[in-house]
Amino acid sequence: MKPSAFDYSRPESLDEALGLLAEAGPDAKVLAGGQSLLPLLSMRLIAPARLVDVNRLSELAYVRSGPDAVWVGALARHAAVLRDAGARDRQPLLAEALAVIAHPSIRNRGTSVGSLVHADPSAELPAVLCLLEGSVTLASTAGRRTVPADRFFTGPLESDVQPGELAIEASFPARPARSGSAFAEVSRRHGDYAVCGVAVLVELDEDLRITAARAGYLSVSATPLVLDLTAAISGRAYDADLSEAAAFARAAVDPEPDIHASAEYRRQLVGVLTGRALRLAAQRAAGNSGEAAA
Ligand SMILES: Cc1cc2nc3c(=O)[nH]c(=O)nc-3n(C[C@H](O)[C@H](O)[C@H](O)COP(=O)(O)OP(=O)(O)OC[C@H]3O[C@@H](n4cnc5c(N)ncnc54)[C@H](O)[C@@H]3O)c2cc1C
Repeated sequence: MKPSAFDYSRPESLDEALGLLAEAGPDAKVLAGGQSLLPLLSMRLIAPARLVDVNRLSELAYVRSGPDAVWVGALARHAAVLRDAGARDRQPLLAEALAVIAHPSIRNRGTSVGSLVHADPSAELPAVLCLLEGSVTLASTAGRRTVPADRFFTGPLESDVQPGELAIEASFPARPARSGSAFAEVSRRHGDYAVCGVAVLVELDEDLRITAARAGYLSVSATPLVLDLTAAISGRAYDADLSEAAAFARAAVDPEPDIHASAEYRRQLVGVLTGRALRLAAQRAAGNSGEAAA
């Protein structure tokens, strides 16, 4: 099917883009990598009057990293973030999750910020942003605002981006000292959206005992779900039996069935994947235990 007719603009600057978005209001859609927007247009699931193509705003095609965070601009493609050595060093979980998003051709075109705005509950990056307690910065002709991850995802395919706003940057907090992370997911075919996925972050003390453990889930709820697993395993050695945390997670989720999986299968995957990612994250944290604070 072909999209309905729309006006098309390709601004040369951020100010011009924000002006066009302000003028069109709710009738406009931003076009970034087009990897989610174009299928929706082609299937006529949406019919915006105007597309504002931001692909000439090359000043937003950056990945920056520092002691506190990795900052990803709106035009940074998944592949560019994945390749960035600084980002990998400061926040390895980001690269681990990006590597399982779709296929290389989609990662070469799709943007990481576009994925966050699209807010698919089966997408990897929203769960990672929520687990890490990151944020998204939005710009409009009225100014800028930064929205924390736990308020950014408002429903399935719904984020807190208002008419007239452009998401210009996502901020992923850097890995804390003596911490480790891991990502695990199951999809029916390589490159498909996951039936269930989990990102885990574990922190240790100087004696390699667990002080904090959190997990962020995709494909188990309408918006990314974050569970604090600390109470189940706090004080245990990094290589102790951590299965109580996986059992806690399994009992805490309430997934919906769909054409890809039953609720019970998803719940089972939550337990298995949590256990697997938790053990790996704890081992990695122990391996990082000699480092100075980042
Ligand atoms: C076959 C296929 C498989 C895929 N598999 C996966 C997968 O396994 N995991 C996964 O996470 N993703 C997957 N994707 C989606 C992919 O990651 C997209 O890159 C991502 O969803 C959207 O990024 P985009 O830049 O292409 O955004 P677009 O498609 O251009 O836009 C998506 C939405 O976000 C809005 N938007 C985009 N950027 C901005 C911005 N800066 N400010 C305001 N609004 C904005 C658009 O208006 C639109 O509503 C898949 C896509 C395809 C086609």
